[in-house]
Amino acid sequence: MEVYGAVQGVGFRPFVYRLAGDLDLAGWVINDTRGVFVEVEGPRDRLEAFRDRLVAEKPARSQIHSVEVAWLDPAGFEGFEIRRSDPGGEKTVVVLPDVATCDDCLAEVFDPADRRYRYPFTNCTNCGPRFTIVEAVPYDRPNTTMRIFPMCPECRREYEDPRDRRFHAQPNACPACGPHLSLVDARGGLLAERADALERAAAAVEAGRILAVKGLGGFHLVVAAGDQAAVVSLRGRKGRYEKPLALMAAGLDGARRLGEVDAAAAELLAGPEAPIVLLPRCPDAGVADAVAPGNDYLGVMLPYTPLHHLLLRRLGIPVVATSGNLSDEPICIDETEALQRLDGIADLFLIHDRPIARHVDDSVAAIVAGGARPLRRARGYAPLPVLLDRPVPTLLAVGAHLKNTVALSAGQRVFLSQHIGDMETPQALGAFERVIADFLDMYEARPVAVVHDLHPDYASTRWAEEAVAGEGRLGGLPLLAVQHHHAHLASCLAEHGGGRALGVTWDGTGYGGDGTVWGGEFLLGDAGGFERVAHLRPFRLPGGDAAVVEPRRSALAALWEVRGDRVWESGDVAALAAFAAAERAPLSRMLATGFRAPATTSAGRLFDAVAALAGLHPRVSFEGQAAMRLEHAVDPAVADAYPLPLQGGPGPMVLDWGPLLDAVLDDVRRGVPTGTVAGRFHNALVEGIAAVAAGVGEPRVVLTGGCFQNRVLTERAAARLERAGFRVLLHNRVPANDGGISLGQVAVAAARLVGKEESA
Ligand code: ZN
Ligand code: ZN
Ligand code: FE
Repeated sequence: MEVYGAVQGVGFRPFVYRLAGDLDLAGWVINDTRGVFVEVEGPRDRLEAFRDRLVAEKPARSQIHSVEVAWLDPAGFEGFEIRRSDPGGEKTVVVLPDVATCDDCLAEVFDPADRRYRYPFTNCTNCGPRFTIVEAVPYDRPNTTMRIFPMCPECRREYEDPRDRRFHAQPNACPACGPHLSLVDARGGLLAERADALERAAAAVEAGRILAVKGLGGFHLVVAAGDQAAVVSLRGRKGRYEKPLALMAAGLDGARRLGEVDAAAAELLAGPEAPIVLLPRCPDAGVADAVAPGNDYLGVMLPYTPLHHLLLRRLGIPVVATSGNLSDEPICIDETEALQRLDGIADLFLIHDRPIARHVDDSVAAIVAGGARPLRRARGYAPLPVLLDRPVPTLLAVGAHLKNTVALSAGQRVFLSQHIGDMETPQALGAFERVIADFLDMYEARPVAVVHDLHPDYASTRWAEEAVAGEGRLGGLPLLAVQHHHAHLASCLAEHGGGRALGVTWDGTGYGGDGTVWGGEFLLGDAGGFERVAHLRPFRLPGGDAAVVEPRRSALAALWEVRGDRVWESGDVAALAAFAAAERAPLSRMLATGFRAPATTSAGRLFDAVAALAGLHPRVSFEGQAAMRLEHAVDPAVADAYPLPLQGGPGPMVLDWGPLLDAVLDDVRRGVPTGTVAGRFHNALVEGIAAVAAGVGEPRVVLTGGCFQNRVLTERAAARLERAGFRVLLHNRVPANDGGISLGQVAVAAARLVGKEESA
């Protein structure tokens, strides 16, 4: 039997060993670079039982993608053995993500009689580091960063005993032989080791200091969540002024004191992936205002390694646990780098001597429309593949610009990288290059083409152009460009087995290919192609992407589209009155001529415009901040909607928000509460989407793009469409935002290459 999928590092071989023993079958099992191979010998009925039970009773953390069975002549095996891994051959085995500490290990860590009592690196076959320690496949200890720790006799015995929970647990370790903690000061001077290091680190947090903690996939910066001065100082030093900071609570009870935890959220928080989950904030959460200023949600996670469990239980209070980096740079993974890059940020460093093979941030998810939706896909999820409906050529897709991820296809699988980040710093570009090299090495992949966004100025696009022009291993390969919103649509479709749909693809910005900036698109099609059947009414946006940080510019520009220079007569509206007299003439000129004011159909900018008119956030410090405020402001009792008429062709239909803006302005002037304005605006968008869907008539509708991180918009649009008889497809595996683009790029490029082959 050849078993493919996520079958290594999950206790698959010991499971096979026990199953063969149960059925009294002889033979052997082996890990190789593609999966798990088994030969068993015995009476046919028991072999059939073996085949069925292997699938039915597979280990909890494994995923079987396929099983191939062949009947062989008897070989005369005696007994059943686990053979040494075979390092040769094609590398398609699924490398597993890191798994949060299991209950058995946790019980040992807090059992004074156990030899692993208070040991921060306890793990077993069911939990512990995987992706963050693997350096090569197959997944065996010499191929991990744990190879520098020879196992003590007791660990060795567990590792070799098929009845033990740690049988072939590659990172197996104990206080006698494994990694240990140290506490160092900002100059790297050793202050304490082992239990003492943990104790002094905890005391420092209690005293309001900023602690850097080396975890699974990088460093966290930790301060007490209730300590306003410490949080403010952390923000100042990190250069992260308004983006919400993630919290870690000791357990589910602690999480419930911070935010509303329903059954779905509880499952996600306490699950093996243990992501940061966005929870509606409790009014008496007791966290410092600076943790998530003006935000009705808190991002909360639970401890996912024994180290975090020990620290959090010792402290007894929730902490801020945010990535150890400067704002928007990738997370630090090694001590030397951390001491350098976090110099002036962290007061103390709680570190350990198990090297981290690659950076993996915390994942972020939200419960939207009844399901867990990833917002950032990293620890616990990466690099698990998405399975396509058919095998595709080997392709490397380099993603978009913000929230970048890359993807590599192999057969039916698309391996998705961990979150890399915004491609705006040399550090981010460095991480991007490392991830690509890492993926190509790990899978020994030889792509037939490199896929990138249609935007010529994205750093990822330029990198792809240079890579194929260069001498490296991608040199000479063809390039394939994929339109941004088509990639969004194809990404969601790929998660749902392919096919065709109407894609409501709404985000902040994407290169349209017609000289305009798209972002409020309705694309009808599949991975092979699309027709732009409708879009939001375009308007000229002075400064283009620079306007992202200034929602009042979107407000001005959208109103100018409707009213021209009469817009300045609306001086009673705060968002417009705030433009200085000297700014007005140049802005009018840009708007009139289109010079440095590209036309856009962006839904994100329409959110910004309405938020600014409603008096929320004339300026923001990160994209989507104003839209988030507007979403959170929605008064759930508001059932009516602003007008958003749909105008028919020729050409694509247009959703005209002109009357909507007039109505917003009227409401704002009359002092209608912001919650009502926000409610009517969201309802208008939902009705607009329903009108286009009805006009197009395609039975399946995809909701994708960064705007569908908005829970109110997504849930209302999905419910409205379903009431009208449409089947709604939402993202489950990859983010609706640009973190999902690389998957869509692979799907589109593969469809093109296969289509070319078929027509040839
Ligand atoms: Zn465990
Ligand atoms: Zn040991
Ligand atoms: Fe996008």
